[in-house]
Amino acid sequence: MSKLKPLMDSFGRRITYLRISVTDRCNLRCVYCMPEDGISLLNHDEVISYEDILRLVGILSNHGVNKIRITGGEPLVRKGLTGFIENIGRIKGVEDISMTTNGILLERYASELYNAGLKRINISLDSLKEDRFNKITRIGNLKDVLTGIKIAKKTGFNPVKINTVLIKGINDGEIIDFVNFAKEFELNLRFIEYMPIGGNIADAVLSKEIEEKIKSEFDDFSLIAGSQANNADNKDGGSAAGVADKAEVYNSVSRSFGFKDGKAVIGFISPLSEHFCGDCNRLRLTASGDLRPCLFYDNEYNIRYILKENGDEAVFEKISDIIKLKRFKHSFNEKAKKQESLLWANDFMNGIGG
Ligand code: SAM
Ligand code: SF4
Repeated sequence: MSKLKPLMDSFGRRITYLRISVTDRCNLRCVYCMPEDGISLLNHDEVISYEDILRLVGILSNHGVNKIRITGGEPLVRKGLTGFIENIGRIKGVEDISMTTNGILLERYASELYNAGLKRINISLDSLKEDRFNKITRIGNLKDVLTGIKIAKKTGFNPVKINTVLIKGINDGEIIDFVNFAKEFELNLRFIEYMPIGGNIADAVLSKEIEEKIKSEFDDFSLIAGSQANNADNKDGGSAAGVADKAEVYNSVSRSFGFKDGKAVIGFISPLSEHFCGDCNRLRLTASGDLRPCLFYDNEYNIRYILKENGDEAVFEKISDIIKLKRFKHSFNEKAKKQESLLWANDFMNGIGG
């Protein structure tokens, strides 16, 4: 079937990117993502089935959604993930599949995933010190993630991106260690501003502070021309060669910097200090099957029911209506400044997928 009308929000932004949280379960309990006792988890029959997700992706890909990210919870704890990824790759119109993982299970699954068609991976890592890593994740072992990163590189994933969240007084002293680590292993490191959901805004380390710190240590640390959030027009190579493919550097919500030796790309994702909403092309699917037009608003619409009751075109029309409710930008920082609650109704990041 040829491509039908595109999925478009009421501001004329085309939705081409679906982030799928395949589970709310996780083998870690990161302090900024989940409460210590864990959360009340979905029953198995409350989690959206792979069949439903595949049907949804098939419908959306027909209308221009071509980029898929698998996330969670920890996606690798859901059974059958490799086969699911393989099936997503078979859907016509899907051009790009990536995954965000904490890396703990990569030693076991990296080559299986790669053979299933996953070629790009983001691994979250918030400390290079064993005891601190354990404190942040509450139960994790650093060496498992480091092994996962090395194996991901060796397997051929490209790029391997590292997602790092800094929290004041906890791991913000490791900025330069992280840069050196990225250079040593030729990684694409992205500092994500901590979103203090239910926490304190003062704990966030803003991108500008991190950028200044790196500049003070590395003379050749410079912005990759045109890498400003969502600027897909300027495809000048800059110093990103070898670490990330160019389209990826230029078409993301991060601002990217490089070094003369081209050994690492350092990106900044700044939901607090900068709006990256302007060109937002995303839609999120939660583990319970709720479509979420924006990470920062808890408007959700359950797709499982819609899929059950409707044919493909009717499903698309209903999703189109949902997309029309997408707001132009989030008010997360305004809320934070006024010290209003940032907590979403019943949600933690593990269910939505970050
Ligand atoms: N379990 C996987 C992982 O940790 O990579 C995937 C899910 S996790 C929710 C996705 C991303 O969200 C991770 O990179 C994590 O660091 C980030 N994240 C979670 N809570 C956050 C918060 N409060 N502020 C900023 N980033 C957060
Ligand atoms: Fe799990 Fe990822 Fe959340 Fe950490 S950030 S608790 S690894 S879902």
